[in-house]
Amino acid sequence: MPFSNAGIASGLGRWHHLDNIRTRAGPFTNLDVFDGDSVSAAMESMKILVIGAGGLGCEILKDLALSGFKDIHIIDMDTIDISNLNRQFLFRKSDVGKFKADVAAKFVESRVKGVRITPHTCKIQDFDEDFYMQFQIVVCGLDSIEARRWINAMLVNMVDPDVEDSIKPLIDGGTEGFKGHSRVILPSVTSCIECQLDMHAPRAAVPLCTLATIPRQPEHCIEWAQIIAWDNEKPFPKLDKDDPEHIGWLYRKALERAKEYGIEGVTYAKTQGVVKNIIPAIASTNAIIAASCCNEALKIASNCAPFLGYPNENYMMYSGNDSIYTYTFKHEKKDDCAVCGVVARELSVKPDWTLQELLDSLSTRPDVQMKKPSVRTETKTLYMQSPPSLEESTRPNLTKTLAELGLVDKEEIGVTDPAFAFVSFKFRLRFV
Ligand SMILES: [Zn+2]
Repeated sequence: MPFSNAGIASGLGRWHHLDNIRTRAGPFTNLDVFDGDSVSAAMESMKILVIGAGGLGCEILKDLALSGFKDIHIIDMDTIDISNLNRQFLFRKSDVGKFKADVAAKFVESRVKGVRITPHTCKIQDFDEDFYMQFQIVVCGLDSIEARRWINAMLVNMVDPDVEDSIKPLIDGGTEGFKGHSRVILPSVTSCIECQLDMHAPRAAVPLCTLATIPRQPEHCIEWAQIIAWDNEKPFPKLDKDDPEHIGWLYRKALERAKEYGIEGVTYAKTQGVVKNIIPAIASTNAIIAASCCNEALKIASNCAPFLGYPNENYMMYSGNDSIYTYTFKHEKKDDCAVCGVVARELSVKPDWTLQELLDSLSTRPDVQMKKPSVRTETKTLYMQSPPSLEESTRPNLTKTLAELGLVDKEEIGVTDPAFAFVSFKFRLRFV
């Protein structure tokens, strides 16, 4: 008999096993904060926010509902695509085109009686501080770094040292193929997502010379077809990554080259994957990472056991590539973190760089990754992305060198980006 039915069949009820955990102290329970009698009532009145209703989000929503949370909100602006159905198990074929958050909420509500799920079919950026303040815990099942950075900046910004309830634990799960992570962030107390940004370093590009001269992997042949062969032969005016004819052309070119070098593994699907930068989503990875996130949520909500992130290990890495491997470690808070730190971060620059080169370096540095930075010093505006009039008047600065702009060694600059509306990143220039 499946474990989950055992309690029901024996007349003990659906929550019997959960209540064993919630009401009884375990070997790691801190008895100063654990109160078994009040846990289930406390969890019933607790509001928890889930961000993302995709592969991870479906799992998280189901796990939270079955962990005894009764008041759950979910934000996702996406609609259901037919390609989601193999793993996003709350959706059916008849749901294609509907909002993920709506369908997921209804499905879980219908299967777990007594739980209320409020869907929001919009962007996280559409809500303000007052909205986020109503929750006790935030769980993210996102695939975008931008969205993570935004909610992280919002939650850190919301912390008021005099109000204990203003610290909202942020539980973040992420998966990429057979790899995944879960981590807990106590905004302003422990290392935040911005402190850990280098964990999301963009994948290293293959040097062009490797592509042009000595391909070793099927990916090299596909990138060669996309970058070099396409440019030389221009089979269509502009590459459309969604056009099967274009992908087909790249596939045949890549296959030819792979044969020439005795490389195996170039397929149509692989070509599409490399060109569109698709990493296959693995249902089991999502299930494992979501379970880990919800386990942390249960521990935070009930105090039944110490949770990830306080005071030590805060980051769990999982890899299912070769058997199963996990590693949990402490990612340290950075004093010069742009979001939660207290000091300006040092930025090595050359005085003869143009302002444009400085901006480019901000977008490529793994620990910054800003796409549309605006820059100012304490006294003047160097470059603004918007409004258009200001962009136009500051644009001539882009071609001037830092020295020409009057910037000096150890000068502090403030950088803003629309992706982090209210955060100004502080950097101290260091001339090298
Ligand atoms: Zn930080």
